Amino acid sequence: MSRVRMPVMAGWFAGDGDDFRLVGTRCTTCGSVFFPRENDLCRNPGCGGRDLAEVSLSGRGRIWSYTDTRYRPPSPYVTNPELPWEPCALVAVELEAERIVVLGQAVPGVTVADLAVGMEVEVVPGVLSEDAETTWTTWHWRPTGVAV
Ligand SMILES: [Zn+2]
Repeated sequence: MSRVRMPVMAGWFAGDGDDFRLVGTRCTTCGSVFFPRENDLCRNPGCGGRDLAEVSLSGRGRIWSYTDTRYRPPSPYVTNPELPWEPCALVAVELEAERIVVLGQAVPGVTVADLAVGMEVEVVPGVLSEDAETTWTTWHWRPTGVAV
């Protein structure tokens, strides 16, 4: 039986190949971009706009900070408790055009020893967890200098 592929957060990303991208929203009044997406009210305290349009985020950014995870995050983080926790690198990426920082895991196989502040990374489709029925999909950050 094949697993169903399900995004771990609906509406946060789209595409599954070269067209993969993070999806946020932009306030039509002040231009502020939000990820995770804000749908109802601009969070800019000086704005108050209520019209937010869906927008694809830049596919590349630069590492603002990073760390590694040594323990299994608590719920609602999706993991398969029957499998051992695999440490991974967690990356905060600055998107210059949007003026925001987006968190995410580095691609499997990339550790904190491979990362540096200021390094360019690109967003790629990834898998967060799998169980018997479902493959939970997410986004990963991959250094642009690393071969696929
Ligand atoms: Zn606004």
